[in-house]
Amino acid sequence: MKNVNMLTGLIACRKYRKLSAEGRKAVQQQRLRDIVAYAREKSPFYRDLYQNLPADFSLAHLPPMDKRTLMEHWNDWVTDQGVTLAQVEDFMKTLDNIGRKFHGQYLVFSTSGSTGNPLVMLCDRTVNGVMGAVNIDRGFVRGDILKEYVKRGGKTIGVFATGGFYLSNSSVRARLLKMPWKKRQMGITSALLPVPEIVKELNAFQPVMLGGYPTNLDLLIDEQLAGRLHIKPLLIMTGGEYLSDELRARLSKAFSCFVQTMYSCTEGGTIACECKERHFHVNEDWVIVEPVDKNNRPVPDGVQSDKILLTNLFNRTQPFLRYEVTDRVVMHHEPCACGNPLPWLTLEGRTDDVVTFTQEGREVRVAPLPMYAILKEVHSLRRFQLLVYPGNRIAMRLEPREGDTRDTAFAAAKAALERFLQTQSVTDVAITLSPDTPRQHPGSGKFKHIMRMTAEDAFEA
Ligand SMILES: [Zn+2]
Repeated sequence: MKNVNMLTGLIACRKYRKLSAEGRKAVQQQRLRDIVAYAREKSPFYRDLYQNLPADFSLAHLPPMDKRTLMEHWNDWVTDQGVTLAQVEDFMKTLDNIGRKFHGQYLVFSTSGSTGNPLVMLCDRTVNGVMGAVNIDRGFVRGDILKEYVKRGGKTIGVFATGGFYLSNSSVRARLLKMPWKKRQMGITSALLPVPEIVKELNAFQPVMLGGYPTNLDLLIDEQLAGRLHIKPLLIMTGGEYLSDELRARLSKAFSCFVQTMYSCTEGGTIACECKERHFHVNEDWVIVEPVDKNNRPVPDGVQSDKILLTNLFNRTQPFLRYEVTDRVVMHHEPCACGNPLPWLTLEGRTDDVVTFTQEGREVRVAPLPMYAILKEVHSLRRFQLLVYPGNRIAMRLEPREGDTRDTAFAAAKAALERFLQTQSVTDVAITLSPDTPRQHPGSGKFKHIMRMTAEDAFEA
């Protein structure tokens, strides 16, 4: 595969749409062979892993891969052998580098996804080009809204976690650094700010499109209904977390606009785009999605998977090949009423809880994402989970990073969390260290970083 920029990506996307089912399969298989060949040639990790691969290999021959393994072998994993993780981590110590290019070539993204182990990713020009092209070509459910959005100047703002190398934050800053005159057209406001300040920024900006994580946008509904927030977006585009039908309906009603979402992650870009039927059609020209059970065995159509194995066909710098993503999906190959022939899936999402504190008799609701983002920056923490009980009590489960103790990690995390809660006017809070380590919900198997507990739950600390 040649380098792709936004324009050539768009052309490739449109060409793909006109192909027959066999033609589409051929494109996917060619891209798979190309990226596997490239990985074997340039990445010592994959060269070793794939040394006994048969010449006529199929996807099932490639061993499933997870984030922890890739992060442990980062220097051997990347196909650009001129970079090391230590260099990138050094670059990331300077927050002014957000949106700037590492080695003049790569945007740097970091995420921790839903399993709590941070991933550091280099985004090369092709990755950027493909992600942009897919979003423009397929990201909008309604063509009429896309047209009107462009006509009204495309003013877009996102409520996202800032202050870190997250996909949305880094991408917007990269564009603003390149095109500073776009400041009035494109913005990002920090989900870490107290709600009244987010409201002030949004009122001043008056977006045509409002983006953000569902739980953060949820906090804005009351503000809009009370008239403190007064914006008239044409479209709300959510991402990063699961959007429930219930929240979609409330957002749509409060803001009198169309609400849609897409299925994306840092490692795979936009994996699937929503259609009118609210089905996520998989972008099979750029990714392969395999629904599997917890032992990585394929799960048939119509049955809920435990996770997916994701193969990214366009990230040559850091090949993600059969990479575990802990999203539960149901895959469908039967025709969709929207007419899109690509297979589609439904999603059971990652959902942390919005939590409520009380301060001087007043209720303060706090979205989970900012707390998550703050704690992710605590370097002595490897993994964490917050159990938030009534009465402003928080139990923190944690695993320290190697070389740190539970106590030092807890002290740093507690201080960071207290500082953040103060900015939300919550000062009267008791944070204690749980004897436990972060774990899935025993019933649903789902993992939440932030859990809202009830008075009936036994306090764990
Ligand atoms: Zn459809």
